[in-house]
Amino acid sequence: MQKINTFFPSVGEIAHKGVVQASGASSIDDAVVLMETNNLSDVIYVVEQGHAIFTVEDLIKYRRQGRSMSARLDELEQRLLVYVNEDENVLHMLPLFDDRNCRYLGVKNADGNLNGIVTYTDVLASVDPAVMIEHKTLAEVLEKGSIETISESTRTETVLDQLIYPEDAILIAEQGNLVGIVTTRDVVRMIRNSVDMSLPIRCYMTTPVCTINRRETIKAAIEHLKERKFKRAIVVDDDGNVNGVITQRELISITYGRWAELMKLHAHELGELVRVLESKNIKLQMESLTDPLTGTGNRRMINQAIESEIGRYYRREMTTFSVLLLDVDFFKNINDAHGHPFGDEVLKSLCNRLKGILRVSDILARWGGEEFAILLPAADLDSATMLAERMRADIAQTPVENQSVTVSIGVAEYQRGESLEMLLQRVDKALYAAKHTGRNKVVSAD
Ligand code: GH3
Ligand code: MG
Ligand code: MG
Repeated sequence: MQKINTFFPSVGEIAHKGVVQASGASSIDDAVVLMETNNLSDVIYVVEQGHAIFTVEDLIKYRRQGRSMSARLDELEQRLLVYVNEDENVLHMLPLFDDRNCRYLGVKNADGNLNGIVTYTDVLASVDPAVMIEHKTLAEVLEKGSIETISESTRTETVLDQLIYPEDAILIAEQGNLVGIVTTRDVVRMIRNSVDMSLPIRCYMTTPVCTINRRETIKAAIEHLKERKFKRAIVVDDDGNVNGVITQRELISITYGRWAELMKLHAHELGELVRVLESKNIKLQMESLTDPLTGTGNRRMINQAIESEIGRYYRREMTTFSVLLLDVDFFKNINDAHGHPFGDEVLKSLCNRLKGILRVSDILARWGGEEFAILLPAADLDSATMLAERMRADIAQTPVENQSVTVSIGVAEYQRGESLEMLLQRVDKALYAAKHTGRNKVVSAD
């Protein structure tokens, strides 16, 4: 892809400078202090090969694993920072984030030193006009030019002669201080009231002038105009001096003009950007429905699947279906005896074992913790209970990760008129009954 420097910023321009860095010899505790005091969710630390990242997720993971908080960062598993050069265009960063599966890029300057980091959000924000208008200030977009003003003693008819276009406005100042404004709206009022045009404009001008500070954002300026039905904003600095006048039209062309031009001139590159964003979107949708530990669906996924099965039930002459809720018995003991990471392995193996028993059309999801939910399309209560019993027996008979494991299962068949919540409540009650009447058991809801 060729560079598109004219439109989008370089990574150097949007990078966060002054990156907080720890040394590899720092402890997890040191990193936590750095995070807290700098309000960061990640710390970059120096290692032999370059820089590595320590994140809040790592912190949670190591705590859970019971790892000592005084462990040195460079002794932990290392996630190396991926670097880019500061003059790279932001558009080229989007695929990089996906390919390397990272949330940050380290930005290096021409001397090869790390001079900032850039996040995925930064990159997206820099190519999104809607975000841009929230961040760019008027000061950044205002063209420097001389502002013409006239004295308040100027005759009204002289002023009106200067107002040619509907967008024009005349600023009236005395000794550098803005005292009034005349716009086409004022002209209409004056003509309607048949005012005396030979009098000085001070008699008829609008005063005081409604202004906006140059530190406000483009978005704030657009709202300022919209609220008051103004065609232009008078931009002032902190001392009240006029810095410029910016019209509605200019505001729009500053923000969207870049895009309009881009679309015309760079259709090909934009097409690529769209493809990257679309594939990212598909990936995100998948991620939002997947349980990271087992790779199977998560609660959201199965809820959606059950909802659409309920929809199908009414469209297709009452083809029934059933739902199972499976909970590992005394799972806490496995964790306590062998540690949490081993518990995770048990959950993964268990998940694979369950998949082996199910048909391809059945849907398995991790409901949370050590619980799984299963949707069995077309299964009535009897066949669902039989399948649940097969799963229970299989798990109880053959150890999982050399560990004897049992599961309790609740079964419910969908009942006409029931909502997702009601169905889940019944299956949960059945599971509860299985737990409280001995475990390693299947209970069907009535
Ligand atoms: P029972 O269901 O038979 O009543 O007993 P239990 O010990 O399985 O039930 P409980 O709900 O008290 O404990 C579930 C345990 O599962 C506690 C929690 O630490 C553990 N757990 C939850 N999620 C995970 C996980 O992702 N990985 C691991 N290793 N353990 C988890
Ligand atoms: Mg349990
Ligand atoms: Mg449980």
